[in-house]
Amino acid sequence: MSYTPTRSDFDRYMAPNYAPQQVIPVRGEGSRLWDQEGREYIDFAGGIAVNALGHCHPVLVDALKDQADKLWHLANVYTNEPALKLAKTLTERTFADKVFLCSSGGEANEAALKLARRWAYNEHGEHKDKIISFRQSFHGRTFFTVSVGGQPKYSQGFGPVPGGILHAEFNDLEAVRELMGDDTCAVMVEPMQGEGGIVPATQEFLEGVRALCDEHQALLIFDEVQTGVGRSGSLYAYMEYGVTPDILTSAKSLGGGFPVGAMLTTDAIAPALGIGTHGSTYGGNALASAVALAAVEFIDTPEVLEGVKRRHALFRELLEEINHKHGVFKEVRGMGMLMGAQMSPAFEGRAKDILPLAIEEGLMALIAGPNVLRMAPSLVIPEEDIREGMARLERAIAKLVAQA
Ligand SMILES: *Cc1c(COP(=O)(O)O)cnc(C)c1O
Repeated sequence: MSYTPTRSDFDRYMAPNYAPQQVIPVRGEGSRLWDQEGREYIDFAGGIAVNALGHCHPVLVDALKDQADKLWHLANVYTNEPALKLAKTLTERTFADKVFLCSSGGEANEAALKLARRWAYNEHGEHKDKIISFRQSFHGRTFFTVSVGGQPKYSQGFGPVPGGILHAEFNDLEAVRELMGDDTCAVMVEPMQGEGGIVPATQEFLEGVRALCDEHQALLIFDEVQTGVGRSGSLYAYMEYGVTPDILTSAKSLGGGFPVGAMLTTDAIAPALGIGTHGSTYGGNALASAVALAAVEFIDTPEVLEGVKRRHALFRELLEEINHKHGVFKEVRGMGMLMGAQMSPAFEGRAKDILPLAIEEGLMALIAGPNVLRMAPSLVIPEEDIREGMARLERAIAKLVAQA
């Protein structure tokens, strides 16, 4: 008899660093998923802002299958057509001139930070090594990126953290100004904090940080791992703000579910990453690049991007309706298909209690910290699925209120 894994196998065989929900989805199509028992779920979680086109979108499936029959992997001793096509497309559609490919957001940020340090070292000297980032920010789980990230719980207990990293309050331009000096190498910021609670940067803040970087010859790094590839309603959120970084990192939606990451930069900065300075075995993998190319070409069209904005308006309207009835949220915020609802004081810290209740009702959602219910659905989720998902969310929230 063939073996069917159960949730208790997770505790038996997997390292205990996650605590997944009890159900095990086995199949997905668009914004719907089915578990081992055949129960159906609507997906507002989107694999944490990864499944940009839902599950098994034909455009991505075709790109993957087509490449699977041709060539999977060569390593960077050789190059390949899909990687070159992806890099060309990304430079044509953004501020960037040069691309470094890798397999995840953390790796893209690691590359960005190393590039910034090396650029400053080459151009200005050893003293210019300070990296400024923000409290509550999240940049990945490598040791450099957890240290730059603004949540100390992710770096504590792992030994000495790398030096030269300073943290300021997000959206507080004066705090950045105080930390900034001629020894500042780079400022790393998410245009909208994701894990930190779905908090958009203000326009003045991003413009001000850009001006400070220029004044001090420091590099501005936008971490668009969560906000990128259509999620904000533009290809990248920097386009919504009209503030251009020197380095941008992308992952999550970039592969629509296939692991891929990219670091984008300019011709002025890229030479610091000279031959042998950095690398990644899987970076530029042909399968990953073929899928990412298909995702970017499909998403970066007026139809899809305008659709993201329309869907955002509908999500907001329905969330406000739920809140009108139940009064559980203090604020609904976000951009495009990345939205957060902050819990009201009476439900302080209870966002995570909604998740199993939502599962009972057939809905997958996320949190961003203890106080924010987060939604990162497919950019092309059908209106019918939004309405049905919201009806399920309302039933989950009614249960939460009844428990209180
Ligand atoms: C998810 C995320 C990362 C880390 O990406 P991984 O692919 O998990 O390494 C980095 N930055 C931001 C803003 C993210 O949301």
